[in-house]
Amino acid sequence: MTTFAELTTLRVGGGARRWVEARNCDDIVSAASAVRGTGENWIALGGGSNLLAADSEFDGTVIRVLSEGIQIESEGADRTLVHVQAGHSWDDFVSWAVINGLGGVEAMSGIPGTVGAAPVQNIGAYGQELAEVVHSLTFWDEQRDDVVTLTNADMDFSFRHSILKGARRGIVLDITFALTRVGTGPEALGRPIMFEQLASALGVAVGASEPLGAVRDRVLELRCSKGMVLDANDPDTFSVGSFFVNPIVSERFSRTLPADAPRFPVGEDEPPRYLAPGEDVPPLSTQPRAIKLSAAWLIEQAGVRKGFALPGSGAAISSKHALAITNRSAATADDVFQLAKYVQAMVQSSFGVLLLPEPTLVGLSL
Ligand SMILES: Cc1cc2nc3c(=O)[nH]c(=O)nc-3n(C[C@H](O)[C@H](O)[C@H](O)COP(=O)(O)OP(=O)(O)OC[C@H]3O[C@@H](n4cnc5c(N)ncnc54)[C@H](O)[C@@H]3O)c2cc1C
Repeated sequence: MTTFAELTTLRVGGGARRWVEARNCDDIVSAASAVRGTGENWIALGGGSNLLAADSEFDGTVIRVLSEGIQIESEGADRTLVHVQAGHSWDDFVSWAVINGLGGVEAMSGIPGTVGAAPVQNIGAYGQELAEVVHSLTFWDEQRDDVVTLTNADMDFSFRHSILKGARRGIVLDITFALTRVGTGPEALGRPIMFEQLASALGVAVGASEPLGAVRDRVLELRCSKGMVLDANDPDTFSVGSFFVNPIVSERFSRTLPADAPRFPVGEDEPPRYLAPGEDVPPLSTQPRAIKLSAAWLIEQAGVRKGFALPGSGAAISSKHALAITNRSAATADDVFQLAKYVQAMVQSSFGVLLLPEPTLVGLSL
């Protein structure tokens, strides 16, 4: 019997009433449309890297999106449109783009999962996010039972969010990306590096540009050091990556936190940054501003350390990253869930911030 434990990176979760493997757009649409007709529950499954399913059986159909393929659609002066099937491995696509001298996704190297799931939470890392490169996508819309084209503007992208996180149910069939042709030589440079840690790993200043391949290599190194690249020999990677979303709070609320809490102003004109050591918190701006906090910092300061496990549990906080909950030794979904609840309660009672889960929960609610 197939189980979520076999098909998810957390390696937990029970079976489902029915599993369907769909290898092309037509198969995906006919499987989804057929389930819709029965009124049964269903869920799409890509690489299972952002999903926590309960130990009990899912009373519905799991549609596994397994379509693959990359195709250049058009070459323009300022952009190259590339069409990718939903089931294609995200990192395989990034690697292809880098090898072919196409910029825009290189800092998102090493993120597990499929291309089709990437817009669901607007994946991002090291200063790049999906919303910057999506031109449009083809989508089976459950409400209409029809295939529609959604433009970037239709997606309502924001930090780890899109319209597909709840508001619009359906399945992404393929995505057209708008990438920048930069070439492959050492003189062919990608987008400016906007993430301090990555700039420092590359030995350049924030805002400098580096060759795509160098960016990809450094990002993969940084991610490996945090257990953020899947590795069958490293249990720190048996996770969903970050379990909680970095919370966004008002500037006024952020001032109730200790002075050394990392704060990233979320503004259109202002790139995110840490306050320099010793720098005063700037005066309140006249405009209300939103501030992104570091969930990892909140968790550690609430007393939940890397490697922490509840007694008798197979789940533990990653030994490399406080934000990842990992399956150490035959954990159950309940082990993972109880640890997540514990972390949530510790942060809420210490700082008054409710951390929200990043992965899709199936048969569970946090
Ligand atoms: C080690 C590790 C590191 C990670 N690092 C990052 C990171 O740096 N940045 C980041 O943003 N994320 C990160 N993640 C999370 C995860 O990789 C991404 O969210 C990824 O996009 C999930 O893809 P998936 O195919 O595995 O989705 P799944 O886990 O299969 O599904 C996730 C959600 O998307 C839905 N879904 C899947 N396919 C489709 C489709 N074709 N159409 C519509 N809905 C669909 C599912 O129903 C579910 O709700 C990390 C995860 C791990 C395990």
